[in-house]
Amino acid sequence: MRYLFSFLWTVIFHLVTADVVVSDLLVRASGQDIKSGLGPKLSSGSRILLPGDSDFPPASERWQEYAKPTFSAIVEVTNENDISETASPRDIIYANNNSMPFLALGGAHGSITSLEGFQNGIGIRLSKLKNITVSDDGTYATIEGGVTNGEVMRALKAVNKQSATGVCECTGFMGALLGGGHGLLQGHYGMVIDNVIDFRVVMADGSIVNVSDTSDHDYFWALRGAGHNFGIVPSLRYKIYEPDYLQWNYTMMAFSQDKLEAVYEVMNKITARPEHELTNVINYAIWMRSPDIDPNNVLIFFGLIYPIPDDNGTTFTSWFLDLNPLSVQSQIVQYWDLPKLTGNGDDSPICQHGVNNHLRFPIYLDEYNLTATRSAYDLFNNMTAEVTAFKDSMILFEAYSLVAVRLVDWANSGFAWRDTKVLVAPVITYAPDAALDDTAIKFGNRTREILYEGTQGTRWWPVLRVYVNYAFGDETLDQLYGQLGWRTDKLAGIKQKIDPNNRFRWFAPVVR
Ligand SMILES: Cc1cc2nc3c(=O)[nH]c(=O)nc-3n(C[C@H](O)[C@H](O)[C@H](O)COP(=O)(O)OP(=O)(O)OC[C@H]3O[C@@H](n4cnc5c(N)ncnc54)[C@H](O)[C@@H]3O)c2cc1C
Repeated sequence: MRYLFSFLWTVIFHLVTADVVVSDLLVRASGQDIKSGLGPKLSSGSRILLPGDSDFPPASERWQEYAKPTFSAIVEVTNENDISETASPRDIIYANNNSMPFLALGGAHGSITSLEGFQNGIGIRLSKLKNITVSDDGTYATIEGGVTNGEVMRALKAVNKQSATGVCECTGFMGALLGGGHGLLQGHYGMVIDNVIDFRVVMADGSIVNVSDTSDHDYFWALRGAGHNFGIVPSLRYKIYEPDYLQWNYTMMAFSQDKLEAVYEVMNKITARPEHELTNVINYAIWMRSPDIDPNNVLIFFGLIYPIPDDNGTTFTSWFLDLNPLSVQSQIVQYWDLPKLTGNGDDSPICQHGVNNHLRFPIYLDEYNLTATRSAYDLFNNMTAEVTAFKDSMILFEAYSLVAVRLVDWANSGFAWRDTKVLVAPVITYAPDAALDDTAIKFGNRTREILYEGTQGTRWWPVLRVYVNYAFGDETLDQLYGQLGWRTDKLAGIKQKIDPNNRFRWFAPVVR
């Protein structure tokens, strides 16, 4: 018996050891294949990182741990010239020829569940594509595909210019743009997509094209709202402006939950004002726990931001101050200080990668139904108390100015939801733990449902409207790309023409 046991143990040991060696060899072989096949085609300065390399983990880290893509190799391309002349077209062709999936990597903040379908592919990391050059006449900038919002803001500041960008400094500028791009200056300059003059695009077959409204109207339309589906953008030309909006008033107040109805009534009062009065005023709220202020209940942090002077901004702020907030922080700041102050700076906790699951369930609203808002609060308050792992979750309410957004025809781009007023996003945050995933998804979805149910009867076509860049991944095409069918049909038609093999299918695919 002892011998039999010993024999079995020896066999098992050899099998296990052999398995490890074989699988290890396979992993290394595929990595080496990529290196030897693709490496010589890349220009100097580019790098291919494989899983064993010390720089691989930071290069493949994501903001979102849940349902994330994985990589056999990360290819860091160096500049637009490398892409257009040697690198990206060839490595994309290489990936095509070898049936390897590929995915552009910008700020790595993409968090939709469709990204989980991308496993062991080639990541085309754009982090070295950082050039931003201003045209001689100062009316536009050529911006490369790997910049973050913060880098665009700082580069424009250095030449005394401004334009629309996303708010969060560490988020990819291009990733945000391709889905629409909301930000602080959208009331003045429109959404981020509204400022694109033309795109350079690397297509699925490796060819490189310029896409503008005149060169290919439909392709240009699709890139602005559903752009993740239609190519890799190494650079684009982007409108920039004299900086009219430099000094801003920033007021942040904390309210206890008993003030919820009063606060949201005032928010409704502001949102219902004629648009021209809101050109300059942005309001936003965050529900989250802050035990040092209130150990038991979620707090409502409410912020008002406007460039000064602005009489409406001053009046609106006074309405909230009249509600006796628990605390008030008010200051005059420079435009470029706002990301940091609103918790969106490069060094803010929100910019941490590789730590948490952040399950987001966004919904656009036109106004707040106070009953639904209270129900959503109660659910959020209870769940973040009962499941302590969810204690760092939050709900964001972003109401940016809309004047310039609505000056653009609603049918003008692949982004469908110009008629909305407030972007709301429950974000269920927790350390990765598969045992909690179902509960987190039910919690997030139920919160969104409550808010959605509160819109019933208030709209002519009560569809759930979702910002594709915040989407969880279980939304329908109509909810992401627009109702009535024509938008989704149009996107499917453009897809058939531009990317018939659907190689760009990892982020909110327009064809499922
Ligand atoms: C903390 C935080 C703050 C945010 N703030 C804002 C905000 O203020 N405004 C706003 O509108 N959105 C905001 N978003 C949403 C953001 O726009 C999306 O998460 C977006 O997908 C992030 O892009 P990325 O480049 O950082 O991520 P990535 O995961 O690198 O990219 C997302 C998708 O875009 C593709 N992609 C990236 N770059 C390119 C390129 N050059 N060419 C082609 N495809 C490309 C990727 O392949 C991927 O499919 C925020 C998100 C987070 C997590």
